[in-house]
Amino acid sequence: MSTPETASHPVKPGEAGFPILPPEDRWDPASAAGLSALEALAYRSNLLGADRSVANWGGGNTSVKVREPDFRGVDTRALYVKGSGSDLATIRADQFTALRLDDVGLLAIREAMADDELVRFYEHAALRPGQPRASIETPLHSMLDFTDIDHTHPDAIITLCAAPEGRDLARRVWGERAIWIPYERPGFALGKRIASAVKERPGTVCVLLAKHGLVTWGADSEAAYKATIQTIGQAAVALAERAGRRRSFALGAPAGARLEPVMAALPALRGAVSARRPMVLHLDADGHSRSFASRPDVAALAQVGPACPDHLVHTKPWPMVIPAAAVRAGTDSLAAAFRDGVAAYEERYRGYWTRNASSTDPEHDPAPRIVLIPDVGIVATGPDSTGASLAAALYQRAIAVLSVADLLGGFDPLTEAETYAIEYWPLELYKLSRVPRSGALAGRVAIVTGAASGIGRAIARRLAACGAHVVIGDRNAEGADQVAAEIVAAHGPGRGHAVRMDVTDEASVASGFAEAVLRYGGMDVVVSNAGISSSAPIESTTSADWNRQHAVLATGYFLVAREAFRVLRRQARGGSVVFVASKNALVAGKNAAAYSAAKAAEIHLARCLAEEGGEAGIRVNTVNPDAVLRDSGIWDTAWRDDRAKTYGIDPSELEAFYRERTTLKVNVEPEDVAEAVLFFASDRSAKSTGNILNVDGGVAAAYPR
Ligand SMILES: [Zn+2]
Repeated sequence: MSTPETASHPVKPGEAGFPILPPEDRWDPASAAGLSALEALAYRSNLLGADRSVANWGGGNTSVKVREPDFRGVDTRALYVKGSGSDLATIRADQFTALRLDDVGLLAIREAMADDELVRFYEHAALRPGQPRASIETPLHSMLDFTDIDHTHPDAIITLCAAPEGRDLARRVWGERAIWIPYERPGFALGKRIASAVKERPGTVCVLLAKHGLVTWGADSEAAYKATIQTIGQAAVALAERAGRRRSFALGAPAGARLEPVMAALPALRGAVSARRPMVLHLDADGHSRSFASRPDVAALAQVGPACPDHLVHTKPWPMVIPAAAVRAGTDSLAAAFRDGVAAYEERYRGYWTRNASSTDPEHDPAPRIVLIPDVGIVATGPDSTGASLAAALYQRAIAVLSVADLLGGFDPLTEAETYAIEYWPLELYKLSRVPRSGALAGRVAIVTGAASGIGRAIARRLAACGAHVVIGDRNAEGADQVAAEIVAAHGPGRGHAVRMDVTDEASVASGFAEAVLRYGGMDVVVSNAGISSSAPIESTTSADWNRQHAVLATGYFLVAREAFRVLRRQARGGSVVFVASKNALVAGKNAAAYSAAKAAEIHLARCLAEEGGEAGIRVNTVNPDAVLRDSGIWDTAWRDDRAKTYGIDPSELEAFYRERTTLKVNVEPEDVAEAVLFFASDRSAKSTGNILNVDGGVAAAYPR
């Protein structure tokens, strides 16, 4: 076992290993010069979001109060506040919601207000129609009189506000100039409480919200920004001083991650957490994550409760922790620990839900969102790649907070009832509903071989368009990168991933699949498509020709299918394997014996594997294209000239020749083949296996019988 080094000297802020640092002042007067109050708000928000220890993904909110003409040209006082669903790091001026301050000001005379009533009130107070919904934390912006207000959930403040001695520490740092507000769920009452506390104590510079975050302000954007950064910095320094005086601090990370057993076992985890809907995994094996997951006391430390209310809907109240012994005992024991761990976690989560749910709360998926694996790091799960990496990133914040809180002698987390009240709060869930996932293959992972061009590329695009995460396998690494980049640009980060793979090489196929598993945790769809072709009369077919055809088409499909079965069986949630064969597998084409015989081997391999996989829910089907000339790597080679010669026509006449030869008088395009592959890949063909679907425009000799 690798142990972190320990240092016994006092810790200073900025010292290597101490996870909470004072934030850097990023304000650039040149960039801010000449900006309107709203533009400056966007600029300052982006600076706050640029440091995730200040404002985490989607968390925190900022505002400014201005005067401007409304749609009638009447001078109006307006509050611009962050809209729900945007992120401070990237928010633009037009993504803030403008409310009429004169209307919103009427809330001050109200004693109480329910959440849904408040949401409706803000909708009516909108300065213009069609704006995003105002942040759920808008009351603290509208009820405080300051021009520019920041509300953030910084690591340093969360730690300070959840430490048992936090109040004492705050008094030492800010004296009477900071107001401490006990925990309360955000909304009307919290806003009102903050506003009246600040009114009672002029000279206040900040409000500390226990177990939650910070409110700071200024007369303009620059002043608000500096106040926020300075306050967080003061908290970070105080924490480091206090922690350093207490006891030694663990520095550094354990030696290299042990990825081999986890790589092979990850599909078991993905299968276990995907019982209700397919989930994608995100592995974070960096030093901080690995170091935290490898702490001997991690099981106790990680269970204390959520570090920040804002993380909850993405990370769940606690992570699942794998015992170190299971990791060290190898793949099978780790796979078993994943399955047993998920079952135990779900039971615990159901207990939590049962104890707290009102009669109308539908239970969330009980599977864990964060899994801590000693010697490895964190695995986060999510309905897609973006959701999984967001959960991992938010848990990085939790690691910083929990590690430092532990040095300060403990952590006073949200109670179970407070936790539940946030996790099942309709206004928090509204944020999630802003990013619906859709498509028949949402949350699924597909790997397509030979996907850098032609039919493979069309298949990759089609599966991605239906919601799949697609691994682009190809010998042509540059082409694969291009296709992956195109899919990411069209469908979002993490939706395409290129791997270099030569299907004739056993090690290359194994490493391509391993990389796909490391990236997404497993897969649901495997499309074996990589192909070549050659044409020659039998007398002039060389052994090299014959072997080459069989290496790529027969052996290549065998190697890909074997890796696919290994992953799918361990994942234990079925799967779809699709072979792209050829009409020539069914029909005896002239002068293409080597190619056609190898294609026939594919078809029979598919039938055999359909029988072998059936019990595990693994379906194996074949699509037979014919004469797909456009975008094809094959048809750019000598194959085109050879086929033309075989039929006694000019190569330029091939398209017309093939079209006239079909029953439907059509040419077959890569997209036509992709459509058939999609059918077999999706649940629409859930009860079909061992089947063949021709996409050839109709060739009577190839009608299956
Ligand atoms: Zn908040």
